[in-house]
Amino acid sequence: MTDTSSAVADKIRCDACPVMCYIKPGAAGACDRYANHNGELVRVDPHIILERTVSHGGRLVPFQAGGDWDGKIVHGPSTFVTAIGAGTTYPDYKPAPFIVSSEVDGVDMVTVVTEGIFSYCGVKVKIDTDRYLGPETATVRAEGEAVGHVTTSEYGSQMLSLGGVHHLTGGSKKEGRVTCDTLLHLSNGKPVELTIDGGSTVVVQAGHAPVVNGLTEERMRVGCGSATIGMFAKQWQGKIDEVVVVDDHITGVLSEHQAGKLLDIPDTGIKLKGRRSTPGRYFQVAEPGTGWGGTNISDPLAILGPFDPKAARPGLTMLMVSTTGEHAAYYQLDDGLRPVETEMPDALRQSVARIRENCEPALCTVLFMAGAGGSLRAGVTENPVRLTRSVKDALTRVTSGGAPVYVWPGGGITYMVDVTQMPANAFGYVPTPALVAPIEFTMRLSDYAALGGHMESVRPLSSLKVNAELLPWPRQGSIPGQGG
Ligand code: SF4
Repeated sequence: MTDTSSAVADKIRCDACPVMCYIKPGAAGACDRYANHNGELVRVDPHIILERTVSHGGRLVPFQAGGDWDGKIVHGPSTFVTAIGAGTTYPDYKPAPFIVSSEVDGVDMVTVVTEGIFSYCGVKVKIDTDRYLGPETATVRAEGEAVGHVTTSEYGSQMLSLGGVHHLTGGSKKEGRVTCDTLLHLSNGKPVELTIDGGSTVVVQAGHAPVVNGLTEERMRVGCGSATIGMFAKQWQGKIDEVVVVDDHITGVLSEHQAGKLLDIPDTGIKLKGRRSTPGRYFQVAEPGTGWGGTNISDPLAILGPFDPKAARPGLTMLMVSTTGEHAAYYQLDDGLRPVETEMPDALRQSVARIRENCEPALCTVLFMAGAGGSLRAGVTENPVRLTRSVKDALTRVTSGGAPVYVWPGGGITYMVDVTQMPANAFGYVPTPALVAPIEFTMRLSDYAALGGHMESVRPLSSLKVNAELLPWPRQGSIPGQGG
């Protein structure tokens, strides 16, 4: 039961968010998170407590990687109280729903948990693909509504920035609702179809391969075209006269590349279209697209000009390959110095297979990002700025559903968390619209007292377990290699 309600006739008024629902007996509020149960306002979902134990057969992941933390709460606790299902502090002058003390290695610790209501939040999405999703700054839509934009690409990945206060609150009511739904589904690990203005349709799901225009992406590229030349130049030496690694960003040419020069690979008279950067590295050989190497071409010869007869000769051999090894073709120059596609020798097939082997599986990564620097802090302390300072001073550790977060330097408590590291369905929403996300602050009890914490609300861990659900920690099925 919470104390966030007031009764009108047989209805209860929930004041856990600004919507202030009147809830009939047996019914739930607009967010499905609170309900009227026999006249009591109850939080519908169980409160999640994580138990670190090998008896669940789970992989053990340190609570925090790295050695900066003093270790008292990192390696000690076998039980961790999350904010999932805990309820909120809205309208924020109240202490957080659970302020839980425990002793770790002889040190009195406290964890303050609350389900934050975030109007300022969004997700950063990394999509491992070379395929062109759309121009930078292009609008990303769900159900036809603008929910974000394409941002700068990273190495082998396209990036989307979705949500944020402008889409949640600054557009039409439908835009806000659809943005909220999109963020909620992505954060809870569900698939969402997104369309990009002037680009592709992509299905994104955290921890799964992206589906671009109906095709499931299999692998992330091994590197840019130039890097691929550098990596495999020695394996091509003596087996082929020329190699072109087709890439939308940096197409590599073996004979001109520094790697080729150092291996004494002779000039071939090849001529690339596009803009030459440094030797053997070409930009803009084609338009971006979903063809070879993230370009729009299906015939790689389209990026070549005529061979220079001063250096080229009939019979000269050439491999053209994409940065994932997904596309490859082998050519010989005929008497007119025109490339003619021929069956690829086994040795070169193996080199293409090696490129494919070196590509990692393509995945979508979803990082939830939110600012906890606002009024939520008042549920932790009467002097909110002290919590911010305590986080910056590394006296207070911030987690989200028990998962480690990255707190941005600078003002406020702006953090990011990998949603695949959190228990399932850790996120909720309220129709203001805003996302509800768990956040926990853990510190020494003495530090909590010093920052003006709500000491009168501190309760022992043992008082919680009656109505809580125990989950193995970390959650089962998290992505291998991404342990926190
Ligand atoms: S939307 Fe949910 S949290 Fe907000 S007032 Fe209604 S029931 Fe309470």
